[in-house]
Amino acid sequence: MGATARGDLAGGPANLGDVEVRRSARRRRTVTAYREKGRTVVLIPAAFSPAEERRWVAQMVAKLQTREERRRRSLGGDDELMDRARALSVAHLDGLALPLSVRWVDNQNRRWGSCTPADGSIRLSSRLRSMPEYVVDYVLVHELVHLLEPGHDENFWALVARYPRAERARGFLEGVELAATSGTEADGESADLVD
Ligand SMILES: [Zn+2]
Repeated sequence: MGATARGDLAGGPANLGDVEVRRSARRRRTVTAYREKGRTVVLIPAAFSPAEERRWVAQMVAKLQTREERRRRSLGGDDELMDRARALSVAHLDGLALPLSVRWVDNQNRRWGSCTPADGSIRLSSRLRSMPEYVVDYVLVHELVHLLEPGHDENFWALVARYPRAERARGFLEGVELAATSGTEADGESADLVD
């Protein structure tokens, strides 16, 4: 990885937000962009001219925004999340898990989701919004199963495993957590340069 520098975004679109451009000598033909702690990091080849940098940064930020907007729309708000949880309960748990409230929360930095069996409430971290839907569904199923089995015993995992992509989703989240501690990209947009 080469030198790290703040991107010079003068003249670009006004809504790029906080963008960090990292030039890499190893990188020849690929541009990658991802969100990291509220910032956008764009990895570009070291040989890029300032004009190429501006063009690619704008393009990659737009791509990320489009993808995030698409996910926001399809995941919706708390009502949509409740519908989604009910549908997952019917599809995988014989409808036995009956949440009374399901909502997005912004303040869960370490946990993806949580459940209070006593009042039937489930909370999902809004960080999941930028992740694939099968991962969101896995966390929902996990918390739904907690309405039936509070602990992480054998019964609990047997019920979670009824969701077909549980294992894959757990792998995805492990990767995200690892990336968060080691500072590598986990989930972003990449584009091959075609020049
Ligand atoms: Zn759990």
